[in-house]
Amino acid sequence: MADDRHFLRLEVVSPDGPVFAGDVAMVVVPATRGELGILPRHAPMVAQLTIGEMRVKTLDDLWIRLAVSEGFVKVQFDKVIVLADAAEMASEIDVPRAEAALERAKERLDMLRNGRVPEDEEIDHYRETLALKRAKNRLAVVKKG
Ligand code: ATP
Repeated sequence: MADDRHFLRLEVVSPDGPVFAGDVAMVVVPATRGELGILPRHAPMVAQLTIGEMRVKTLDDLWIRLAVSEGFVKVQFDKVIVLADAAEMASEIDVPRAEAALERAKERLDMLRNGRVPEDEEIDHYRETLALKRAKNRLAVVKKG
């Protein structure tokens, strides 16, 4: 019986709630150690995710793309759970918002680099680097469709 399983049950969850749920053929996630492809009957596993593109192959052989931020993926009994700080389907990404976030992060990093941080502002290099990465990732995912 175990040998005729040919799909994964995928759930993608962010702090805002469910982002995607359904039966799929394959999942590719951006793990910290590189892209991780998950097929049915994958060994149980937990891995850490980094900001990147997630791809989902549907049972009709179509690929769906999502932008994900940091989080975890858990695989167990053909169930794949992705818990991410943020996750958006490519079709739901707001491009002007990502462009504005990218510009903002770039400006703040420039201010830090040039020592021109206004007195009433506090800029954290690590935070802005992550914001820049998230924005670039969203724009890259939209571009690929
Ligand atoms: P922003 O500065 O525009 O909020 P951010 O990178 O700081 O960008 P996050 O903290 O990663 O945003 O996400 C906060 C929430 O907003 C999450 O639910 C995320 O899915 C959503 N979100 C952020 N940017 C976009 C976008 N460009 N399109 C759609 N949803 C977005």
